[in-house]
Amino acid sequence: MRTIALIAHDNMKSEIVEWVRTYREELSHYKLCATGTTGQRVMDATGLEVTRYLSGPLGGDAQIGSLVATGEVHAVIFFVDPLTSMPHDPDIRMLLRICNVHNVPLATNRATADLLISSAHLIPEG
Ligand code: PGA
Repeated sequence: MRTIALIAHDNMKSEIVEWVRTYREELSHYKLCATGTTGQRVMDATGLEVTRYLSGPLGGDAQIGSLVATGEVHAVIFFVDPLTSMPHDPDIRMLLRICNVHNVPLATNRATADLLISSAHLIPEG
């Protein structure tokens, strides 16, 4: 089963919860993982099982970047807040860069996430 990572900055958390609700059925065919707070919010709101890593500012983005690098995360939905600067910006850049290094699908806003989840490229294995 393929794994999708979910991450949202604080101002975008309601939006990612809404997005997961919208695509609950599609997402149920994937393993889900997330940074700490995003994962908790998604689990509470949807009942989907989510493997939670550290909170983003404490290293969660870096953990997910490492999983992208080793091929254990196959797509990343990362709703970034474009209007707020983040203390963990280096980790965020690292994650975006690693997705590009490994050609892993990465959606940084809802419009792209809508396209990604509807894409044949994300059909679960076997
Ligand atoms: P969080 O981390 O889900 O733990 O809030 C997200 C982030 O800020 O990168």
